[in-house]
Amino acid sequence: MNTATVTPEAPAPSSTLAGNYFISNYPPFSFWSEEQRVAVETALNSEPTPGAKLGIYHHIPFCRKRCHFCYFRVYTDKNAKDIQTYLDATMAEFKALAARPLIQGRKPHFVYFGGGTPSYLSARQLVELTDKMKAILPWDQAEEVAFECEPGTLNAGKLTAIKDIGVTRLSLGIENFDDHILEINGRAHRSAEVFTAYERARAEKFDQINIDLIAGMVEETETNWQRNIEQTIALRPDSVTIYQMEIPYNTTIYKEMKSEGKLVAPVADWQTKRRWVKEAFAALEQAGYSIASGYTAVLNPQRTKFVYRDELWSGADLLGLGVASFSHVAGVHYQNLTEIDPYLAALNSGEMPVKRAFRTSPDERMIREFILQMKLGRVALDYFVTKFGVNIEHRFAPQLAQLAAEGLLISSPSELRLTRDGLLCVDTLLHEFFLQQHRTSQIV
Ligand code: SF4
Repeated sequence: MNTATVTPEAPAPSSTLAGNYFISNYPPFSFWSEEQRVAVETALNSEPTPGAKLGIYHHIPFCRKRCHFCYFRVYTDKNAKDIQTYLDATMAEFKALAARPLIQGRKPHFVYFGGGTPSYLSARQLVELTDKMKAILPWDQAEEVAFECEPGTLNAGKLTAIKDIGVTRLSLGIENFDDHILEINGRAHRSAEVFTAYERARAEKFDQINIDLIAGMVEETETNWQRNIEQTIALRPDSVTIYQMEIPYNTTIYKEMKSEGKLVAPVADWQTKRRWVKEAFAALEQAGYSIASGYTAVLNPQRTKFVYRDELWSGADLLGLGVASFSHVAGVHYQNLTEIDPYLAALNSGEMPVKRAFRTSPDERMIREFILQMKLGRVALDYFVTKFGVNIEHRFAPQLAQLAAEGLLISSPSELRLTRDGLLCVDTLLHEFFLQQHRTSQIV
């Protein structure tokens, strides 16, 4: 009998390991707590800061099928009655929030429907839901109404309804154009549905169509990635968003890795994924696009804005409605309960469905905006002087000098600018700007 112990080989530095890589907020979620929920009440009872923008995020946690890389709270087994119960609960939540001093009388500057799959709702459900939302806080001054779609859920009637309710930015979660890759990654749609949905969406004349792709899905190849780029350019959407595949802990892929004792995820390494995005950005630039962030290329930067992202990253108030949604109100972060039954139960008993919160200090708000704006690739120095009284070049001198020495950052008197290589790995650079107490080995 061979009793030798087999030690798994140490992963190569660029390997894709399990965990979150994308930074979406600061301080990290692991610092938010139940104890700080009281801060939400205080924030909602305060008066709004003059000129502060307000956004509404509505979370639709339903999907046809769970993708193997998905880490969101989604349900694939709810019937029409369950969905209606959920939508009614979100409206009870919205009504209660809209009556609070911080929100009362304000007009949303932007509205975002995310998920899950907002386009999973029927046309009738969408019209009823949005009529109720508009009756609670009218959207007539909203600069953007954004809506995420799964291509296979879009029939012609539904797209007309989505246009009619006022959506200006339609985002299609294509992820990949290859049917085998879509299937092996657990996506519900196939490429034929992508092309039909895109054609119908164009016919509806949405102000802006964005398509989402993921670089490095399971079984992605060099040849197929090049085809993805070509097909994207051939469609000519107003905006293209490309994420680099990551494998958070609560995904099906991670569970399989764990059961097989694997440390390295079965996807391309980070170096390859960055190169693929670099090649995609270069091809998109050749085709007339401009790079608008570490993830996005837009055809017409003057016309094609992403108000939700830009306002959120500049400190706007955001009311998140629905299970597991995230909010940011008067400097307080909070997340709703992450399971549907406790969420419904809290609202039925007239309570706020808040799971955890974090009250930010002015310094944490400054760092939050700085790291989020770094993801755009450019940070205006005078913005931080005017808003926070902070000279970014002095405050972060050692970190900025290090990035410059590595060829990842260029400074000018008015702005900091990431080089293309810096931009492609921006999420890995931001940890250095966190306060010492927030530097954890795991960003969750
Ligand atoms: S469509 Fe999006 S939210 Fe739904 S399971 Fe797939 S990745 Fe998750």
